[in-house]
Amino acid sequence: MIDMTKVLTDTPGAADRVFLNSAGSSLVPRPVLDEVVGHLRREAEIGGYEAADEREADLEAGYGVFAELLGCRADQIAFTDSATRSWLAAFDALPLAAGDRVLVGEVEYAGNAIPLLMRARAVGASVEVVPSDADGTFAAEALAELLDERVKLVSVVHVPTNGGVVADVRRISDAAHAVGALVLLDACQSVGQLAVDVEALDVDIVTGTGRKWLRGPRGTGFLAVRDRAARVLAPKLADLHGGTWTGTESFELRPDARVYELWENDVAGRLGLIAAARYLLELGPAAVEEAVGQRATYLRAGLAAIPGVTVHDLGARKAGLVTFSVAGRSAAQVQAALAARDVTVTTSSRSSTYLDMSRRGLTDIVRASPHYFVGEAQLDTAIAEVANIAG
Ligand SMILES: *Cc1c(COP(=O)(O)O)cnc(C)c1O
Repeated sequence: MIDMTKVLTDTPGAADRVFLNSAGSSLVPRPVLDEVVGHLRREAEIGGYEAADEREADLEAGYGVFAELLGCRADQIAFTDSATRSWLAAFDALPLAAGDRVLVGEVEYAGNAIPLLMRARAVGASVEVVPSDADGTFAAEALAELLDERVKLVSVVHVPTNGGVVADVRRISDAAHAVGALVLLDACQSVGQLAVDVEALDVDIVTGTGRKWLRGPRGTGFLAVRDRAARVLAPKLADLHGGTWTGTESFELRPDARVYELWENDVAGRLGLIAAARYLLELGPAAVEEAVGQRATYLRAGLAAIPGVTVHDLGARKAGLVTFSVAGRSAAQVQAALAARDVTVTTSSRSSTYLDMSRRGLTDIVRASPHYFVGEAQLDTAIAEVANIAG
């Protein structure tokens, strides 16, 4: 159970509005805010290097915190400045040659699809789409048919940016591994709302962001590279943190995942990210998953009952992203009308998840993503405001 009194005390912004955009950029809890602002103050007092030195043990402990959160080892974790940076770092290190194949799902995110297409075009590899089944995630038979030993990577979005569907990851990774392909899990919309155990999912690379469900600061991200991937990936460029210059023409690369980091980083942001992960671990990822699921289910049911409102979420198992449209109103109009009543939602456009939106004939949809700090009364307010707009 989530202690609502505590989380609301830690989240003053949640009192002033019905905040339903944790899939975009959530409200940071007070311990995260204090960590970030406190560190900036300390940098102003004694200097950035000296302030970082004071927090060296905490920064180091952060790798263990994320290892605990994800269910992997600390040496498999790297910190970055976004989920996309993590994704690009790992994908760039994947050897890919002419004739190689990469499989993606229909809910693939544009920020992953564009670099995939760019690199495939450059090297003569192909990017192929595994069609979704009626539940909205990788169709098992189609996946089995497409997999062969030329497939080097299967890119799986755990929860997409445009809906609640949760991928059946373990089934996908078992099939991919049977032909020697690596599995890259985009956990950007799952870590922080779902309890994610990368060992149970048996994925090889995991990417995620700080600002969404984790409630960390903007400009933060994380990467996990498990052993099967570490054996295959070959980083193309590293700096003096990822490598050591050992002779006139020689260098050595770090053996751990920090080879994907750069030396310079936003230390205040990283401390905030670590504080956000600690905050989640204290609440308990299972309790958070239950609370978010319950709120999303409640909101979906309330919206679906309004005449003129269509809820778009697919999936036998659904997470905390609730997407819908209102007849006769554009998604942007709904967003603006709700904003005027202090209900914060966002929109998701076709270009973010081009394949899935095109297949379903959708252009723009409204996305509401309630975190555990949104209570039932606030959800009732949001539902009533949508009903006003629809009526
Ligand atoms: C937001 C999002 C990303 C990108 O995260 P950034 O931190 O902005 O790089 C990737 N994948 C999915 C599914 C997302 O929703």
